[in-house]
Amino acid sequence: MGVNIEVYRQLSEELKQKQVTLVAVSKTKPVDDIRVLYELGQRDFGENYVQELLDKHSQLPTDLRWHFIGHLQSNKVKFLAPFVHLIQGVDSLKLLKEINRQAARASRRISCLLQVHIAREETKFGLDEQELTELLHSLGREPLEHTRICGLMGMASFTDNPDQVRSEFRQLRALFERSRTDPSLDPAVFTTLSMGMSGDYRLAINEGSNLVRVGSLLFGARN
Ligand SMILES: *Cc1c(COP(=O)(O)O)cnc(C)c1O
Repeated sequence: MGVNIEVYRQLSEELKQKQVTLVAVSKTKPVDDIRVLYELGQRDFGENYVQELLDKHSQLPTDLRWHFIGHLQSNKVKFLAPFVHLIQGVDSLKLLKEINRQAARASRRISCLLQVHIAREETKFGLDEQELTELLHSLGREPLEHTRICGLMGMASFTDNPDQVRSEFRQLRALFERSRTDPSLDPAVFTTLSMGMSGDYRLAINEGSNLVRVGSLLFGARN
């Protein structure tokens, strides 16, 4: 058990060469495990519960870049607003407006990814294509000056079938390319495509991902 240092070394080298950002997903894992990767140079870490992220943030160096990758409730945004690096799971205009409001209070501009539902499963959060289009229209009419829309995030179905996973990633990539040209977005900023986890990151990179969220491969299985 514990952190898989050799796997980390190889993975971070491989991803660096491919210019893919590695977010180490540390949810449920102790701060000591995070420190191990921090000492090796890792700075981007992902968590999906606000309280857990706050606890860890308070115990770790301030140059860690915290990615919120879970489903964020509007009433919790204020806790993350002062320091969060990237909110990856934005799936409604309501949430985005609250992020904008809290970012303004913290005198920041908060980077966000819009989460798109690509999996066939019902359980995964995210916007469908039409909701994404509508959200971008709203942003065109009413820009949110304290947010920065940096790209899209998605999760493929939990399945052993690589063809299905590949086709879902391909669909997200296509949507990403189409969205980039939307007048409400800045193509110089809208550059991040977050897809791929421990089990499917290679497939994701082959389909154009430039940010992967990898947990169990680095930190070991979660309970
Ligand atoms: C837990 C989680 C991951 C990491 O999953 P692993 O399979 O452990 O790599 C990635 N993305 C999201 C949104 C997660 O919740």
